[in-house]
Amino acid sequence: MNELLENLVKSNKKLTKKGEVASYIPALENANKDDLGICLADLDGNFYTAGDYNKKFTIQSISKTVTLMLAIMDNGEKEVFKKVGMEPTGDAFNSIIKLETTMPSKPLNPMINAGAIVISSLIKGKNKDDKFNRLLDFVRKITRNQNININKEVYLSEKRTGDRNRAMAYFMRDVGIIKGDVEDILDLYFKQCSLEVNCVDIANIGLFLANEGVVPETNEVLANKYITRLVKTFMITCGMYNGSGEFAINVGIPAKSGVGGGILASIPNNMGIGVYGPSLDEKGNSIGGYGILKELSEEKNLSIF
Ligand code: GLU
Repeated sequence: MNELLENLVKSNKKLTKKGEVASYIPALENANKDDLGICLADLDGNFYTAGDYNKKFTIQSISKTVTLMLAIMDNGEKEVFKKVGMEPTGDAFNSIIKLETTMPSKPLNPMINAGAIVISSLIKGKNKDDKFNRLLDFVRKITRNQNININKEVYLSEKRTGDRNRAMAYFMRDVGIIKGDVEDILDLYFKQCSLEVNCVDIANIGLFLANEGVVPETNEVLANKYITRLVKTFMITCGMYNGSGEFAINVGIPAKSGVGGGILASIPNNMGIGVYGPSLDEKGNSIGGYGILKELSEEKNLSIF
């Protein structure tokens, strides 16, 4: 398997030239466009790695899968989906356009920024630090990595420049979808996006989802079958931005990408995969990472459909 992964990294390396690194904040623009790596973790306890699998990157939108689990456990599914929908948008991740036109007014799903900000607002805690610490603790347990922390430079940069997210959040408070201090809610959102991980951490999140909410090895039960199924379904329908339908057809694996270049993939009852390549296609998905997952899925017949 290691050899197959090495070959997949090699054969997809050329794709990295065709994409661009995210440039909406300077901290992400500094990423090395050529980087490409993968970690595959299966339920038998095997880890296979290749390429730049231990390079650190910020989790960005992949965090939306984790906060969704926490928000559902904190509030119950009914409360959560009163405030955010279950439908794909076909628009960009940070699009503002449907917020005003959808009636009743609520973001279409928890995988776009507006929806994820609502989800962050639902995470319970005494104050903003307590809320973040609960999230951090959850992420560290799922990834079995106590060293995970935020990348301060990225966090501060997101906070300084996040006006579009700010605009959506204030609009949503105006129409009553979110309650409380908008800046505190955004602070949690910017921090969750700035969590620094590598492919092994992401593969572990995929494995946790694949294992229906039980952390392998420690056997700690942190979510359940229903919640992890719901997250994997959102990954299929909305996880790859406005390229989700095409990815479902080409690859057939629940996946969530982030503009930091990571892709989280989870194959139910089988394995978790973390891919990293900061060169992005025009939809915001890692161009090399997409290529690796496509070939791996074909090679090992991994499509769930
Ligand atoms: N921090 C980014 C934002 O909110 C996350 C974008 C993403 O990875 O999709 O704009």
